[in-house]
Amino acid sequence: MLDTLAIRTQRTTASRIAERDATPLEFGKVFSDHMLVVDYRAGEWQEAQILPFGDLPVSPANSALHYGQAIFEGMKAYPTAGGGVALFRPLDNWARLNASAERMCMPPVPEELFMQGLKELVRLDAPWLPRVPGGALYIRPFMFATDGMLGVRPSESYRFAIITCPVDVYYTKPLRVRFEQQYVRSAEGGAGFAKNAGNYGAAMYPTRLAQQEGYHQLIWTDASEHQYVEESGTMNIVFVIDGKLITPALSTSILDGITRRSVLQLAREMGVAVEERRVSSREVIGALEAGTLQEAFGVGTAATIAPIATIGHEGRDYELPASAPEALSQRLGAALGAIRAGQAPDPHGWMVPVGE
Ligand SMILES: *Cc1c(COP(=O)(O)O)cnc(C)c1O
Repeated sequence: MLDTLAIRTQRTTASRIAERDATPLEFGKVFSDHMLVVDYRAGEWQEAQILPFGDLPVSPANSALHYGQAIFEGMKAYPTAGGGVALFRPLDNWARLNASAERMCMPPVPEELFMQGLKELVRLDAPWLPRVPGGALYIRPFMFATDGMLGVRPSESYRFAIITCPVDVYYTKPLRVRFEQQYVRSAEGGAGFAKNAGNYGAAMYPTRLAQQEGYHQLIWTDASEHQYVEESGTMNIVFVIDGKLITPALSTSILDGITRRSVLQLAREMGVAVEERRVSSREVIGALEAGTLQEAFGVGTAATIAPIATIGHEGRDYELPASAPEALSQRLGAALGAIRAGQAPDPHGWMVPVGE
């Protein structure tokens, strides 16, 4: 697509790039020099601007703060073999941002604004991308209401922005998770499929309770029966039972992860049987007891694949086999990594270079 939008760019006069090399790089704490900011008012997106990263002033009556019209995306840019930078499936993030926006009564972001703003921002801050194994630029597009007005109704003005963070290899210890059968993350007909801020705030308390019991995360279950697996923490979840890859089918209560989508496609291409369907806690525990549960892992942009070591259910902990190099999770992670690094063919056009 031609770059047709005029994006006003104000470059920083004092780069903070030395902050990046303050080790260890903690996820989401250090931000690149610039951000993209665009306001929506009077029914139209205004001129996009790239500015030095900094605070955004809001009215104390800002309706995102009071009523939660706030959504986000999470994606990454990876270094390419030729020294460039490429985005992973950015149009999928754009489409999902707009699905979240629709659910929250917010205006859609035009494709051109999203893609061109993203590419220009990432090009400008490309030096921030750590050229180390596992290095990437984590990208956080987000939109929030900006009306300063306490009436409960959709805001008339919004701000869309993109900030980025340098990240290095995201090492997760094998996870200890447990089934949550009292609190719910989301319900059928709710907004669980959307990346809206409130979903995460409401998940923190039950997650903290589990952390106090020594788990890292929860396996959320359905709101009506507390039986069927939904997701694990803020990742989709995959089980390998008897050589088959099994994952909960999408619904209005499950977030349609782009890593999930990619992993399922790669598994099918490897000839692995993939089942997207309901998975009950009873089935998972039954498979653990029978020794047929070979693997369980979370899938999401931050960690890509996070192997699960322990699953707690009704006060009992079940251990999974240790993740071996020939494990499906390892093979899928390696296949995805090779596509991202440009070391394997990219037949689906998942990698989108940001250009020079
Ligand atoms: C973002 C997110 C995921 C993972 O989505 P990806 O596109 O793979 O990063 C899964 N579940 C929830 C609740 C999420 O917010």
